[in-house]
Amino acid sequence: MTDLGATIQRDAEGRLRHLITLEGLTREEITAILDLAQFYVRPPGELPARDQSLAGHTVANLFFEPSTRTRVSFEIAAQRLGAEVVNLDMQTSSRVKGETVLDTIYTLQAMHADILVMRDAEPGLPAYVAQHVAPHVCILNAGEAHLSHPTQGLLDALTIRQMKGDLTKVSVLIAGDIAHSRVARSAWQVLSTLGVKEIRIAAPDDYLMPKPREFPGAIRETDIDRAIQGVDVVMALRIQRERMSSAQIPDESAYHDQFGITMERLRKARPDAIVMHPGPMNRDVEIASNVADGSQSVIQRQVANGVAVRMAVLATISRNVQARRQFQ
Ligand code: ASP
Repeated sequence: MTDLGATIQRDAEGRLRHLITLEGLTREEITAILDLAQFYVRPPGELPARDQSLAGHTVANLFFEPSTRTRVSFEIAAQRLGAEVVNLDMQTSSRVKGETVLDTIYTLQAMHADILVMRDAEPGLPAYVAQHVAPHVCILNAGEAHLSHPTQGLLDALTIRQMKGDLTKVSVLIAGDIAHSRVARSAWQVLSTLGVKEIRIAAPDDYLMPKPREFPGAIRETDIDRAIQGVDVVMALRIQRERMSSAQIPDESAYHDQFGITMERLRKARPDAIVMHPGPMNRDVEIASNVADGSQSVIQRQVANGVAVRMAVLATISRNVQARRQFQ
């Protein structure tokens, strides 16, 4: 079944108007976003890239679920492109007081906020809102339930491309609570579109393992020591406790022993394998602290790439809006 977001996110000419899902994006579209993101990357210590691609725009961050990296990263990205940015505190927002999300959106729209960045625990909100906003307003999905986190998928792909070059030769392991992870789903979508050689998904049991139809073609493993053999990339994922009942949450130390990415296990991957984690990390649960801080870790690079990727997405979407205006 095609994701509704994949259809809704395009305008009548087929240009990306919103970014709700990575499903349906072509290899060319993804490559263009990654190339633009690479253009915005600066080495540590240098002044960050800036331009005025978003001058005159107002970006509103609406996060109904907690976020540190993604929210701050969207905020910094929008500011570096010359936009005005507002952050709404959705924990104390009107939704709590009973106002519908759409009323909040219409209020922001009336104030000329034209790019809305949204995160929500329920599936479907970004696509729903995208169907109701004015034609010049864009919705960017910053995390939707367990389903989709498109900018995370793009920053992961950019990081792997920087470190490994030709993706068609790369073997990627995604390990941990895959069943509840939007990061895993978006990574799978972008990496398969880019033609990665192999994706292995590893979860310790059936509960944390997704249904096969969600990751068609991926190699499935429950034994982490087998799954990690010879891979180029190890992506560790957090246990998404917020999507489980307390009875379902695994014991942390038993989980670490059985499934955590430790130095000993990492030695079974290729010697030049990189270690990734989307954050927030639970040190010594899904990933050993010395692995997270070790020489193979690219976790801080992922964070830096997050800003560049969000700048690229914002600039691409606003360019498409301008292009549409010229023909109206
Ligand atoms: N920050 C990522 C997300 O929003 C991963 C995580 O929360 O574990 O999905």
